[in-house]
Amino acid sequence: MRKLTILGATGSIGASTFKVVGQNPTEFSIVALVAGTNVEKMAELCMQWKPKYAVMATEQAAKALQVVLAKLPVKIEVRFGVDAMCEVSAFDEVDTVMAAIVGAAGLLPTMAAVEAGKRVLLANKEALVMSGQLFIDAVERSGAELLPVDSEHNAIFQCLPASAQIQMGRCDLAKEGISHILLTGSGGPFRYSDLSELESVTPEQAIAHPNWSMGPKISVDSATMMNKGLEFIEAKWLFNAKQEQLKVLIHPQSVIHSMVQYQDGSVLAQMGEPDMATPIALTLSYPERIPAGVKPLDFTQVGELTFLAPDYNRYPCLELAMQACYEGQHATTSLNAANEIAVAAFLDNAIRFTDIARINHHVMSKVCATNNHLHSHDLESLLDLDRMARVIASETVREYSR
Ligand code: NAD
Ligand code: MG
Repeated sequence: MRKLTILGATGSIGASTFKVVGQNPTEFSIVALVAGTNVEKMAELCMQWKPKYAVMATEQAAKALQVVLAKLPVKIEVRFGVDAMCEVSAFDEVDTVMAAIVGAAGLLPTMAAVEAGKRVLLANKEALVMSGQLFIDAVERSGAELLPVDSEHNAIFQCLPASAQIQMGRCDLAKEGISHILLTGSGGPFRYSDLSELESVTPEQAIAHPNWSMGPKISVDSATMMNKGLEFIEAKWLFNAKQEQLKVLIHPQSVIHSMVQYQDGSVLAQMGEPDMATPIALTLSYPERIPAGVKPLDFTQVGELTFLAPDYNRYPCLELAMQACYEGQHATTSLNAANEIAVAAFLDNAIRFTDIARINHHVMSKVCATNNHLHSHDLESLLDLDRMARVIASETVREYSR
């Protein structure tokens, strides 16, 4: 039986994780649940799954949760704060950690799981984007088992030879006979919109993804294709890929979730319904397979599959992230931080959709002009850089929101 801590339990990935666990109740036990401030949802999950620990981001949320749980016949220890999140990620009684907090907030708890040598199911791509080599070095040092949840990376993982699957972060693609990784993306809700209409896109329109149901931040990232940019950086680290080995391809139907192209001309693709329960199930059961509660793909209903090259005029955030990827850690950490601030401001109606790319570009150039000496082997300096980029991004948001 696998013993789980679920970071980001109240979110969209959290819900898909419970769906898989619910399909296989004798295979898993839930030790700890972690969330931000959604007390109502956490209380509901605590009643259903009866974890030993529930951790909230703030003392206020933890107190409110305690009040609700006190009325119920369950005994759950409620804690709060980052240190508690790190503790429940590293507990001896836990062997598997679902890392699904959104954004940089997930870095320290995810790292705690890595450093404790757990099986780490990585959904929180921002954690890897902002720490890169440091994260991969920690995996190697601790012997943690890193498995990608992100559907594209999970698809690529499934298309790799077994010898590469157990070497996340340090496999040698060329030695495995691989020429390219083809990272596919749907292009989001505005892939066919007139470019001039993008200025006036509303948050409601941006989060209405045509194929996937996800949390608000990643949905906006999918609309700008910053998500694919973050995934490009994620792929570099997970698969130890050189720039020329990584390609992005628009595939509007989201039937193929990504592909691996071999030197002999073969291309392996992973396909399925756009349901995160599939990749989550694989990471939970690897190397075996378990039911995920996902309907089988019906090829008679799939229709035509199409592919096109990304248009960087439509998706400037994608180009920016691809540049940042091979520029260095200072670029990717600052870009990720800027994007979190810009997306939050857009969701708050403070800036326009198209300002997200402008703000990201401004912050990244400013940070890169002065901080290109950053060495990635120190978590504290990465966190400092993240904080500095957020300050610049917030100032820039204020300029754009006037
Ligand atoms: P979401 O907004 O639905 O959920 C986010 C979760 O993080 C919630 O449980 C929230 O309470 C928690 N959280 C937020 N701030 C926190 C804090 N400071 N401390 C502790 N917990 C905090 O987001 P999501 O769509 O589930 O995405 C989660 C992560 O998974 C993101 O990094 C995203 O990029 C990645 N991901 C999501 C999908 C998807 O289909 N939803 C697919 C691939 C990757
Ligand atoms: Mg993805």
